Amino acid sequence: MNAAGTGNIFVVAAPSGAGKTTVCRQVVSEDPNVELSVSHTTRLLRVGERDGVHYHFVSRERFTELVDAHAFLEWAEYNRNFYGTSWVSIEEPVAAGRDVLLEIEVQGAAQVRERRDDARLIFLLPPSLKVLEERLRGRGTDSEDEIGRRLVVARGELEAAPRFDFAVLNDDLGKCVAAVATILDGCRRGRSDELRERFAPARALAEFGA
Ligand code: 5GP
Repeated sequence: MNAAGTGNIFVVAAPSGAGKTTVCRQVVSEDPNVELSVSHTTRLLRVGERDGVHYHFVSRERFTELVDAHAFLEWAEYNRNFYGTSWVSIEEPVAAGRDVLLEIEVQGAAQVRERRDDARLIFLLPPSLKVLEERLRGRGTDSEDEIGRRLVVARGELEAAPRFDFAVLNDDLGKCVAAVATILDGCRRGRSDELRERFAPARALAEFGA
């Protein structure tokens, strides 16, 4: 919650395979004051996923209707599917004073920046491009073609890191979760300037070797 009594909007973006789902789930499970927003997507359900829990799974037609009705805070096409965060999914918790965490890709994060300058944007960096490739393969959910496409996209996405408020290198899960929790906590206390130095994107990019 912030000084006005409303919830904060936090965005975690990263190249796919940088480990952001794991990091975000852990942060949320350890912090009762923040919840994950449930996005809409046109992609097919993966094994183990549930409609309304992991995503709202909708057809391309329905997604387009929602775009036309201005239902999304942000939306993007990623890897041939549409993904978007509806205003509805964030307005209720934020009005009730609960913080929301958006786990989204990089183009969507740029739209949040334009539309909500109070949102705080965190970029997660994988330890290296090699590890990113191994992680994508290790998930076993994507075909070789899809892994190739995701790697090309990932390289482009790394260029967006300097436009984020904060960046954290995900070379150790525990450390990364603790860093994100520190950022959330510091922002709630109005200490984002202090954190901007400690978690400066330029610093994390130097660690990454970019
Ligand atoms: P996946 O298909 O692996 O679940 O997600 C693919 C990418 O879409 C990931 O980078 C994920 O963070 C991102 N994503 C999930 N939900 C949203 C959303 O609501 N908006 C945007 N822009 N990206 C999203």
